[in-house]
This record gives sequence, C-alpha cells and structure tokens, in this order.
Amino acid sequence: MRITALAGGIGGARFLRGLRAALDADPVLAQSELTIVANTGDDITLFGLRVSPDVDTLLYTLGGGIDEAQGWGRADDSRRVQGELAAYGVQPQWFGLGDLDIGTHIARSLWLGEGLTPSQITERLATRWGLPEQRIRLLPMSDSPVETHVIVERDGGPEAIHFQQWWVGELAQTPAQRFVAVGLERAAPAPGVLEAIREADLILLPPSNPVVSIGIILGVPGVRDALRGAVAPVVGVSPIISGRPVRGHADTCLHVIGVESTAWGVAGLYADFLDGWLVDPADAAGAPAGGPVAALTSRVYDGPLLMSDRPGAGRLARAALDLALELRG
Ligand code: GDP
Ligand code: CA
Repeated sequence: MRITALAGGIGGARFLRGLRAALDADPVLAQSELTIVANTGDDITLFGLRVSPDVDTLLYTLGGGIDEAQGWGRADDSRRVQGELAAYGVQPQWFGLGDLDIGTHIARSLWLGEGLTPSQITERLATRWGLPEQRIRLLPMSDSPVETHVIVERDGGPEAIHFQQWWVGELAQTPAQRFVAVGLERAAPAPGVLEAIREADLILLPPSNPVVSIGIILGVPGVRDALRGAVAPVVGVSPIISGRPVRGHADTCLHVIGVESTAWGVAGLYADFLDGWLVDPADAAGAPAGGPVAALTSRVYDGPLLMSDRPGAGRLARAALDLALELRG
C-alpha cells in the first residue's frame, strides 16, 4: 500500500508516528510506504540560520529524538548557545532554539549555501533520523521559499509580521486581519509531491492546523487539484475536539479566515476532496444536514481523539486507516 499524508508539526507528527506503528503491527500493511508532505510555510531565518519547524518536528518525532513533553525540539537539549546570544543582546529571543537543534539548522543552512534544494536537504536529514528504514519518505511541500505572514492590527495601523513572531512571540494574541503566504502562488510542488498524491492508495490528513499547516500545503499550485483528482480515498482526522482546538491556537487561525471553529467548519475547508472524516463523539451532533460536508462519510471515533500517548495515537491512526480502507472498497 502507498499511503500519502499532508502534515504540519506536532499534531501531524504524533499522528504519523502512530500510523507507522499501526502499519507495522499489521501483517498485511507492514510493508506499506508512507510519504509525508510537510508544510514549509512556517520556515524562518533566525540568527542567519534557516529553520524549518514542521519538517524538524516530523524528523525528530519519527526519528525518536523529540522532546516528548514539549512536542517540538530535541530531547535532553540545552540552551547554552541562545544564552550567549542573549548576553550579546542578539534578537529575537522569543523563539527557543536548543543547542542540538541548532546543529540541524546549521547543517540545513550550509547545504542551502552549497546549492542543495530543501528536498535534497530533507532527504539527508531524514537519512540521519532513520526514516528510510521505516519506509517513510519525507518531502517538503515545495522547494521554493514560502513564508506565512500575518497582517496584525497595531495602534499605528496594520503591520505584516512573520507567522512565527505572531504565533510564538505574541502567542496569537495580537488581533490579526489575515494571513499572507508570501511566495505561495509561484511555488512549485517539490519533486514527488503530486505523484505521491496521484499514485497513492490511501491519503490521510492528520489532525494538523487546518489554516497554517494543511491550508498552506493545499495552496501550493497543483496540490489541491491533485487531491480532487486522486483515485485514493482521502480521510481526515478533526483537529478540533469538542469544539476546542487542543494544543495551539487553531481556533484563532480559523477565526481570522472567518470559519467556525468546529470539526464541521474544518471539514468544510476540505469538502471538495475529502471522503471520510473522523470526529469526536462530542462533535457528532453538530453535523450539518445538507451541503458538501453532509455528503462525506463521517465517523465518530469512540477512543480519545486527543493523542496523549503513543498507543493512543496508534489507535487513532488505525481508525483513520480503517475508514480509508473501507472507503477504498
Ligand atoms: P504545529 O505545526 O506544531 O502547530 O502542528 P500541526 O499543524 O500539526 O497541528 C496543530 C493542531 O493540531 C492543533 O492546533 C490542534 O488543533 C491539532 N492537534 C494537536 N494535537 C492533537 C491531538 O492529540 N488530537 C487531535 N485530534 N488534534 C490535535
Ligand atoms: Ca507549524
């Protein structure tokens, strides 16, 4: 089986680690190839280094190097380098970079300087983290630079800031007017991305941020059309549980784009290509009676939709897999 997934950071990575475990535990599906298309709209240059937060979260989570409690960054890391930068008054200090993590960013930046593409760099990083041995292929959504910016409302008028500054530095508290993904309209899908969608047997959307993770990947020219035309069923897991986002400010992002922060509001963003949708029992009652969302197969997941541990993430992924297999017929 060829399985393709689109993913952001924490929610995507935890779900996909569960998916790999669920596949490996199944004698029929263990040999399946998993291709992950990662959001790179969160990428940012800090201290002269290129940081790719969602790619790194996927690498560390799938490769066994993640700080589990935090959900991002390396396990057992320290902040000595950043402490030195702070002592010199170097800004910004709102984005935490651990010392081991900085190794990744130095390697990426050096390789970019040597002319390697983000795809080639991601492949090198993934090899170090043992992803090929797990039959996981990690692709950035595009090799072209894309940066999500936020137009915020300041006293002096609107200002465009990098998504990370708004999300991490200002905790998404500053009122935002809209998102602008700089470079997105001219971005080409990275090599292999459209093929992975067209040739997949199953396509999964993990519970990632629907606006600034999945939404950005869908904006890469060609990706949405490939999903609409895919032969494989597309099954998603709601990132909204009981009307609330868990971890992160997905509700704030939905509010900015004028979409209701519910499991069904999110399904509406994918309705033109989504076939199956997994929701929490608490959200089942709110399903719309008509329209494109009512037409898709929704399934109430009776376990916790919140991935609080690895077995739980594995069970959730198994449920999404089962729905996709059923829709494939
Ligand atoms: P980020 O890039 O680190 O923000 O991570 P993602 O884009 O993958 O997604 C973050 C979003 O995923 C959160 O705002 C939640 O809405 C959702 N999410 C995170 N953890 C879980 C979980 O355990 N279960 C479900 N259903 N959704 C989750
Ligand atoms: Ca992210």
